[in-house]
Amino acid sequence: MRRTTLALALLMSGCAVDFGSVVNVGPSAERHIEKIVEAADEMNGLLGYDVFSVRMVDSDEMIDGQVIVRHRGSPFTVPSTLARTVLTRSGIAIYVRDVCDERCFLHELGHAGGLMHSSDPKNTMFNKVTGAAYLTDSQINRVLRINGETP
Ligand SMILES: [Zn+2]
Repeated sequence: MRRTTLALALLMSGCAVDFGSVVNVGPSAERHIEKIVEAADEMNGLLGYDVFSVRMVDSDEMIDGQVIVRHRGSPFTVPSTLARTVLTRSGIAIYVRDVCDERCFLHELGHAGGLMHSSDPKNTMFNKVTGAAYLTDSQINRVLRINGETP
C-alpha cells in the first residue's frame, strides 16, 4: 500500500497519522486553496514522496502537531513579506497573503517541512521568492526525516 493511501485511510478512520504532513487550510485561507494544492504537489514532486497532503478544515485553530494555513490580509512588519511560517509548541502556522503565489507557498511549505533559508538564489529556500523549484539532496533528506519518511 502506498503511504498516501494508508495516510488517507487512517485519517478517515480518525486515527492519528505519525508520518507525512497534513496541511490544514482554515476558513480564512480558503481563497488560497488552489495555489496551496499546486505547491504541495510540486513539493511532493521535488521530494519524491507524497509528504504533504492538503485538506480544508472548518476552523483556523491549531491542530496538534500539524500545519494550519491562515489568511493574513495586512502586511507583516516588513511590508515586502509575502507570507510567514511560524513554529509553535502546538503546531505550525503559515500566514499567507494574497500576494503570495504558488511559488511563494512552495517556499513556505519548505519551512513547514523543517527547512531554513538557503543562500543560493536558485534554491526554493532562498530568502526572496525567485520562483526556483530546486532543493539539495540534504534538504530533501531533512524534510523526509522530519516528516517520518526514510529515503
Ligand atoms: Zn522563508
